[in-house]
Amino acid sequence: MDQQPAAKNHPPASNLSVAAAREAILSRLSPVTGWECVSVRGALERVLAADVIAPCNVPAHDNSALDGYALRFDDLAPEGETSLSVVGTAFAGKPFTGIIGVGQAVRIMTGATIPQGADAIVVQEIVRADAGRVIIPAGQKRGQNLRKAGEDLALGGVAIPAGRRCGPAELGLIASLGIAEVTVRRRLRVAFFSSGDEIASIGKPLAPGQIYDSNRYTLHGALTRLGCEIIDMGVVRDEPDALEAAFRSAAECADVILTSGGVSVGEADFIKALVNRLGRVDFWKIDIKPGRPMAFGQIGDTWMFGLPGNPVAVMVTFYQFVQDALLKLGGVDPVPQAALFAVRCASKIGKRPGRREFLRGRMTEVDGLAQVEVCGAQGSGILKSMSDANCFIVLPEDCGDVAVGDPVLVQMFDGLI
Ligand code: AMP
Ligand code: MG
Repeated sequence: MDQQPAAKNHPPASNLSVAAAREAILSRLSPVTGWECVSVRGALERVLAADVIAPCNVPAHDNSALDGYALRFDDLAPEGETSLSVVGTAFAGKPFTGIIGVGQAVRIMTGATIPQGADAIVVQEIVRADAGRVIIPAGQKRGQNLRKAGEDLALGGVAIPAGRRCGPAELGLIASLGIAEVTVRRRLRVAFFSSGDEIASIGKPLAPGQIYDSNRYTLHGALTRLGCEIIDMGVVRDEPDALEAAFRSAAECADVILTSGGVSVGEADFIKALVNRLGRVDFWKIDIKPGRPMAFGQIGDTWMFGLPGNPVAVMVTFYQFVQDALLKLGGVDPVPQAALFAVRCASKIGKRPGRREFLRGRMTEVDGLAQVEVCGAQGSGILKSMSDANCFIVLPEDCGDVAVGDPVLVQMFDGLI
């Protein structure tokens, strides 16, 4: 951690832009220490703690990129056809062990090691083979259709850098090197609870005025997908003692605490005062819709995000702020920023300049062109809009009303969520 004066680390008390809030959060976090060895399969969605170094060349030998004939380029007539005698066959895994002599060729399959003497492969579709001979047309090039040893990965080189989160491609790449185990960062431990006197857990009928807790289930899903170890602390009443006990026990066991609810106007000072007493909290009004108020701070070594209560606001703030924070804490480097694309908007949208708005959208392809429409009612409590949508429509701070046909920015859920 750098040792700047505390004041410099604190954002201004007024509204923050989404970008400034993201930057303020990410700039304070450094990855957790601790790692473990896992099998290749177990590395899926885990973050590499060390570079994966190639212990061998991939491919290990020069080999053929296709089915055809291996030959000596200098044997080919500069113009017209050349007839060569076929002296053997090279299969993948069963090489031709001889040396190709003058005027000779070897039938070769994709992936087979290039026989000694050969320096070009001619694809089988353009030759004529007959009675142990093969007729090669003019126009070949030295080195064609040959895959060189180490062309994918060179011995001793960095195959995959530390900080990369492993997906299917990385698992395959690790396996292609013959490596059975890799070192990954330990999983993040994330504790979370819902706050609110009206919030009831599922499984019981609702008392008058109560609503079922949805935020804990949304967070369960989002955190599980990120590969976190999750500690679900249930629903905590809007009572100082209960909240304090929950924060204390979460701070003891978790790297990060997420709460939802209790940070809107009126209740904000309450959570703020409590976390400030136990640690340190910044409470921000962010120029975002939905999700304007958010608390961010620290209790001991544990980071804390106080998310809003409205279910859509929880998801928007989670995906715009918390997810990347968790990736950074988990060792992902560089932290990817979700891509924004400009797409034609098929809906009319009213907006006042000022906040960055995240509407739920549905992107479709019409006659080969992408277009997006607003997906149902957009209230910050209407979770169905998240479920029906496949992207956020992102309207930047300075954007005003959107007319049908205007380009708008979208952020796809796939890859983001
Ligand atoms: P709050 O920020 O606590 O005032 O909550 C804002 C709105 O979100 C209120 O309508 C709450 O009832 C609702 N809310 C808060 N927590 C949850 C939750 N866990 N599940 C569903 N809705 C919630
Ligand atoms: Mg509440």
